[in-house]
Amino acid sequence: MGRDLPVLEPTLVLQGKGYREVLKREMDAGKIPLSLGKKCPVECDFCYELDHSYRETQDPPKTSQDDWEFILNYINAKPTDPMQFWCLGGNEYMEWTDLFLHPKGMEWVEDFLKHTDKNIQFFTVGFVHVPKIHQLVAQYPGRINFELSVITLSKYREKLMPHAPSVRHVMKVLDGPAVSSANFYSFDQDTMSKDAEQIAKVNQQCVLWMGCLTPVRGLKEDTANLMRQGRKFLPLEAERIYDAGYPNLTTIHTEAYVTAFLNRKRIVSAFDALELEKKDTVVMAGSVHKILNMYRKGRARFLHIPNAMLGGDSDCTVLLTFDDIRKCLTNEKRLHIPKSVMESGRGTNMDIMGVTLEEFIHKTGVKVKVLHKIDTKFANTRLYRNGTLKNFVEDYVRNPAAASYEALPLSA
Ligand code: SF4
Repeated sequence: MGRDLPVLEPTLVLQGKGYREVLKREMDAGKIPLSLGKKCPVECDFCYELDHSYRETQDPPKTSQDDWEFILNYINAKPTDPMQFWCLGGNEYMEWTDLFLHPKGMEWVEDFLKHTDKNIQFFTVGFVHVPKIHQLVAQYPGRINFELSVITLSKYREKLMPHAPSVRHVMKVLDGPAVSSANFYSFDQDTMSKDAEQIAKVNQQCVLWMGCLTPVRGLKEDTANLMRQGRKFLPLEAERIYDAGYPNLTTIHTEAYVTAFLNRKRIVSAFDALELEKKDTVVMAGSVHKILNMYRKGRARFLHIPNAMLGGDSDCTVLLTFDDIRKCLTNEKRLHIPKSVMESGRGTNMDIMGVTLEEFIHKTGVKVKVLHKIDTKFANTRLYRNGTLKNFVEDYVRNPAAASYEALPLSA
């Protein structure tokens, strides 16, 4: 049972800020902040933005030509980093929508390529103009990273994304040079594996980015159950794709417990490098907790923090909030907290809700030692390195040690 501590309040950063200032904040974080001026009309059942009440967002108007010129000039004035891809979508302070539904979306992508020397990346369920998108990729080689959210080509498509482009259209988008990576998921037998087969038939260059979707709070129960069903079939589906040996690069790393297991050596060595003492309390999400209990039991006090704010089946240290941690406190006087918890896009030392480290310390009275080496870069770069399909099949699906890991209860 947790201590009775006051609820932590996020620092509101948008209050009193004008629309243009919000645009600047997005652009300073590498975003190209277009807006549809309304909720996403695609209304996918699995959309993680359905309940985004955990963070402060602004309801921006539909981007006008004037706004676009402001955006283009602001970005143009920034120095060009050849490794940087400016992101169309994924706004932090504005709700996510499929930005290619903006009537000027395609035209402005072309503007961006023509009038800046910068790279662009975007995510869409496929609302692009064919053949324009293929032409742009051919005309501006290396400057476009197009991540196509196929999600599924199976019979579940109609249920999960009734307003998305047709399979026929998606296949046309895939048939050409445009798509850099296509993401799609396991929901049942013959879903992910059949999608891989169809996609590889028309496009051997794009990365096949696979896995299963994780239910978070706010999703309908039957959608969450379909995602969980997909998780059960993931090993079988992955083996089929692996054995088929398509020429495409393949990645599979959407499930936290799998990612943690595949990176167990790295997690353990990062823990050892921290040189913690047995009495030290270190916070972490479920999967990392399991790994450390398997390989380093008793070497420190591992405090398992469920991702209560994101809810559903989420299990990720990067997405923990200070309030999640507060709920788990009993008699701790001092905590070790990974830096990744406070590196969100909200601001310095803030979690994804916008609660600061200072607020946490002030309201709980707990002293905090920040584990600077366990940062988002470590989580994203290091831990994703082992995310190939080959690695998943050989080191997880066909590895007897993974079965005993799966059998361990979460808070063992
Ligand atoms: S298209 Fe993207 S943003 Fe729109 S509802 Fe679907 S998942 Fe959400």
